[in-house]
Amino acid sequence: MKKDIKDIILVAAVVILWLIAVFWGVYFSYPRNEFINQNLEHYETPYSCKDCNVVMISIDTLRADHTGFMRYFRNTTPNLDKLAKESVVFENAFSQAPSTTPSHASIFTSLYPSQHGTFNNNYQVPSKFVTLAEIMKSNGYNTVAFVGDAAVSASFGFHRGFEIYNEHSLLFSETVPKAIKWIESNKKKRFFLFLHGYEPHEPYGNSEFSDLFTETIYSGQFTSDKEIFINEIESVSKNTDLSEDDINYIKAKYDGDIRQVDKFIGLLINKLKTLGLYDKTTFIIFSDHGERLGEIRPNSQKPIFGHYDLYDVVLHTVLIIRSPNLELSKRVQQVVSSIDISPTVLELAGIGKFKQFKGKSLLDAIFNETESFSISETLWLPGFDASVRTSGWKFIVRGNGILELYDLKNDNKELNNVIEKNPEVADGLFKILENTLIDTNKEPPEKAIVEGRILENLKRLGYIT
Ligand SMILES: [Zn+2]
Repeated sequence: MKKDIKDIILVAAVVILWLIAVFWGVYFSYPRNEFINQNLEHYETPYSCKDCNVVMISIDTLRADHTGFMRYFRNTTPNLDKLAKESVVFENAFSQAPSTTPSHASIFTSLYPSQHGTFNNNYQVPSKFVTLAEIMKSNGYNTVAFVGDAAVSASFGFHRGFEIYNEHSLLFSETVPKAIKWIESNKKKRFFLFLHGYEPHEPYGNSEFSDLFTETIYSGQFTSDKEIFINEIESVSKNTDLSEDDINYIKAKYDGDIRQVDKFIGLLINKLKTLGLYDKTTFIIFSDHGERLGEIRPNSQKPIFGHYDLYDVVLHTVLIIRSPNLELSKRVQQVVSSIDISPTVLELAGIGKFKQFKGKSLLDAIFNETESFSISETLWLPGFDASVRTSGWKFIVRGNGILELYDLKNDNKELNNVIEKNPEVADGLFKILENTLIDTNKEPPEKAIVEGRILENLKRLGYIT
């Protein structure tokens, strides 16, 4: 008898726990879906493809000018070059932030950094903001991600909306094979896939192609190391000047790492072709920011490496879109932004327009190029710095009060500050900044909890010292 009562209590406990779980799931997911729906203006265009999969690929730290399809002299991207020939290539795409976490936060929320508040690796994307993955999931997509961890880890809220968020990797050589395996067993499902990897990020020379572009006659200061960390470059350049050969050697290592990304994206494309999915898939391939590779600023006599600050070498990104119902093979010169990516995905997927998104669908830029601008922000330097870039000008306003203006048509390396000669241009660009960033996030930022492997990899990538 006693045993029967025990069994009844056990069954009752299981049922109650199950009901709590169901209630919890319904209570916390349904209102979110309802909120998403209420804020979506549903529509389709002739270019939308409702049945297509969506593959979004973020190549960390890839400088736009080091790719073949952007006319680089080395053969770094043979597979991407082929894809670019049948895609829309945005030649003037810019990131909203010069580092990984805030840049991806802007990509997935279509908000500027001062609006989402995720300025660096201390903060996560506030849960009050909806991410692209959440919208895709609530519209019936199977949402999966295979990412290098560290700065795109779930610790920063990037997992929201993904049914699978696999982050136990760093490089495309790891994330692509996992993604291929998943696609092979889920090829009948309609999916939204986010892929990311860190190959071209420091340490330079961390791939199977590290020595593809290095000169055999080089005998400079970095020959003995396979991987080159930026703090090693800095400690070498403290004592001796880096020679041109040294800088070229580092660039060659960086370029080799790009080639590995290209190889794995090529494998993914071939797999999608073999499975008959290539022409049922929308591709959006981009980088989250660029990289400084030994450029010298007027105020620093040393070559600079890494990604921070608001100059074009760091903000100019790759952006390629291929979608089955879209006009193929086109080059767009209009200045566009990373925050435009999510609105474009929604329009190409035939979902519509989401109220929170500050970016614009890129279909406008493809068919009606106009004068436009891109705004970027950073907290890496003391204070809060912001920039606005148009086709001809770059204006930077710094937290310490310094203002900079560059005439890009005559000075594309942004070396000569011409603000005193052009105060009216600076005024106009300042007004764009003021008007665009008017609704900043006034709430305290949400702290990110980072530990274990994620913390170790943030250190390896130089984000934490
Ligand atoms: Zn990055």
